[in-house]
Amino acid sequence: MVYQALYRVWRSQRFDDVIGQEAITQTLKNAITQSQISHAYLFTGPRGTGKTSAAKILAKAVNCPNSVDGEPCNECEICRSITDGTQEDVIEIDAASNNGVEEIRLIRERANYAPTQAQYKVYIIDEVHMLSTGAFNALLKTLEEPKKNVIFILATTEPHKIPATIISRTQRFDFKRIDTKDIVDHLAYILEKNELSFEDEALNVIAQAAEGGMRDALSILDQAISFSDDIITLQDALEVTGSLTYDMMDRFILACKQENTAECLSLLDEMLASGKEARRLLENLLLYCRDLLVYQKAPKLLAEKAQHFTETFKQSAEEISAQQIYSWIHILNQAQNEIRFTTSPRIYLEVATVKLSEGISTKNSSSVDDNVQPADTQELVGLKEQVTALQQEVSQLKNRLEQPQQQVQTKTQQHKEKKPVSTGYRVPKKRVFKVLKEARKKDLVNVKEIWEDLLASLSVTQKAMLRASQPKAASPNGLVIAFDYEIICKKAANDQDFVSAVQNNISRMISDYVPDLVYITDESWPTLRQEFLSGHKDEADEDGLTEQEEPESTTTDEQKEDLAVSKAQDLFGELATIKED
Ligand SMILES: [Zn+2]
Repeated sequence: MVYQALYRVWRSQRFDDVIGQEAITQTLKNAITQSQISHAYLFTGPRGTGKTSAAKILAKAVNCPNSVDGEPCNECEICRSITDGTQEDVIEIDAASNNGVEEIRLIRERANYAPTQAQYKVYIIDEVHMLSTGAFNALLKTLEEPKKNVIFILATTEPHKIPATIISRTQRFDFKRIDTKDIVDHLAYILEKNELSFEDEALNVIAQAAEGGMRDALSILDQAISFSDDIITLQDALEVTGSLTYDMMDRFILACKQENTAECLSLLDEMLASGKEARRLLENLLLYCRDLLVYQKAPKLLAEKAQHFTETFKQSAEEISAQQIYSWIHILNQAQNEIRFTTSPRIYLEVATVKLSEGISTKNSSSVDDNVQPADTQELVGLKEQVTALQQEVSQLKNRLEQPQQQVQTKTQQHKEKKPVSTGYRVPKKRVFKVLKEARKKDLVNVKEIWEDLLASLSVTQKAMLRASQPKAASPNGLVIAFDYEIICKKAANDQDFVSAVQNNISRMISDYVPDLVYITDESWPTLRQEFLSGHKDEADEDGLTEQEEPESTTTDEQKEDLAVSKAQDLFGELATIKED
């Protein structure tokens, strides 16, 4: 039998099965039993909260001849055809792929005809905020002249993008994020039905990672099932969600408590190197701090989790002041906001880590200076300098983000001027250029094609490392791989097992291809590419290529640039488009 994803198998078929949206489903059921059906509905809310499921149930309930208490029977021909998606009077449109006016015009025309089989013709427009302005206008006309027996159900994750004129013509229902507890209960129910064992805390971790979306929770559960052996353990859940393990957090918070900045930074390196994602990392640490506080004040509230608390955790909860924990939560919260819009979260994490390990007393510097030993003072001064440097870096990054996207030249210049945030990986420029010189688009395409399979063929740690990288250029003899984090790049370059695992698997998947692997940081790529292209431009001149294109005297720098760019596009494919990530 073909494997079916859990979220498909367990999609709600009745209003009562929709988890965590009781107010909405009850209102809809009442409307159906009282025949108070509106001609247009707007379902808003985060992804995976049941909007499209509810829309399909509504389409069934209004059309099912055996409907009881506003619920569809799910047995009759009409119900079944709607479930299968074969009912021609229930039309599902994904606005993300059909944003045209033409589409809506057709809907308008077709809406004029009465339903053929069902009682109501139902249009379900998913991601409706993606419609173009023209399409919205056409839709508005349709909603302004409601037809009997036609219902529109608009669903969106971004209601603020929908014109007020449309919203005012619909009955709006706001789907909320599903409570973690409701998700946990539902996951437990599904696992029990499937006769699969699990540790309770594993489900908590999955539910938290899903952030209130049932569909995400079920996808993660799917992964956890295929990842685990007989029983889904907390450890499995932490692995598949990319969460920090309790051990990692214990060590990190302990080092913060001891104000051991060096240790904290090296633990941060370790977490990032093992593939932990910045956002999840901060979230985990926040939860850990919250648990510390709750454990101090009301340990009974954590009864369910208690069995997973380590001695280190309990001891920390006893020894760390609430004031200190509040200050950590504040710092973590701030970092969470800062990384939201950046492609370089690492720097914010480093700043936050230094702050976390400073202790609260250091904020009042005069009193500290009196108490500390000379050696400590020196260390403190060093740390302060480090913080200032990092903060400057952050504000530079912020400025760059805030500036409107300018022309290539300006950007590359900024790159050249910018000092690298170095922790000591030397990019092997010569080897990169050697690959670029012989680079062929074909080779890169081949590598990209097998990339997912390559990831799948590696061990968990190796996979985590390679996942933080992309292939950038390939030649018959070489492959340039760019890593998101310098620390991982360094680790990868020095890890002989990793290097040979990647190389062996590539040559197994692409016959006769045994490339020399060249590791670079993602940050260095734009500069390297630009540097290579300028070199290439000169070569193009020497070859007389530019003269063939244009009489010599009129060849402008811009045209040379264009030529170099088109040459680059030939070599690297779409990756070389002169645009940063
Ligand atoms: Zn039915």
